[in-house]
Amino acid sequence: MRIKFVAGNWKMNGNLAANQVLLHALVEGLARVAGVKCAICAPFPYLAQVQQLLSGSGIGWGAQNVSQFDAGAYTGEVSGAMLVDFGCRYAIVGHSERRTLCSETSEIVAQKYAAALKAGLTPILCVGETLEQRDAGDTEAVVAAQLDAVLERSGALSFAHAVIAYEPVWAIGTGKTATPEQAQAVHAFIRAKLAAQDAVIAQNVQVLYGGSVKGSNATQLFGMPDIDGGLIGGASLDANEMLTICRAASAVN
Ligand code: PEP
Repeated sequence: MRIKFVAGNWKMNGNLAANQVLLHALVEGLARVAGVKCAICAPFPYLAQVQQLLSGSGIGWGAQNVSQFDAGAYTGEVSGAMLVDFGCRYAIVGHSERRTLCSETSEIVAQKYAAALKAGLTPILCVGETLEQRDAGDTEAVVAAQLDAVLERSGALSFAHAVIAYEPVWAIGTGKTATPEQAQAVHAFIRAKLAAQDAVIAQNVQVLYGGSVKGSNATQLFGMPDIDGGLIGGASLDANEMLTICRAASAVN
């Protein structure tokens, strides 16, 4: 059985003082929540703080991006090995904000996914369509192409060490959540696509939903058969919201 997984994506938010309050609340609150895996993906400068405050808590942590390169003259980049130095277990790759704002193509995302794996990290691979693509009936084709770039480079077996996050771009940070049925349909498509290459991998890979998940909608979303938890943006900055989401994940397990 796939255990539920809730990962927070702080994006470019936080400061030392606020992070400390938030992390303490999460450590304390999650100590009483069983049967769900949780992680925080923090901005690079705060990874040392996150490591210090989450070590031994059972909550994992990771970064929101990773370089596709190992080392060298790549000013401003952060390698997978550097993330491992700070105890990271995860790296988000292919978040739609990076695909759009930083011109990350699916090929670059596939390189980052491979680099994360090579460093021993678990990539959280984000895929998802824009509203225009959905309205044009292209959701499955878009998601398939994003997955294919990774499958071609790293193969289906790599998903034994990865997590997928389906994040419809139109639902991220907008307050518009995909209905549980809309999300379930794409999650089932993703699993079926992987199953065409490896049924066991497809059955075991965690596919998270991301896009305006809150305490108030988490239970319905996580109750769908192919939704294995959430990648949480805005709500992960609020300890009560995050704890409610994690409790919802724990309750439907
Ligand atoms: C995200 O950033 O991955 C995300 C899903 O954001 P939000 O929850 O704010 O929509």
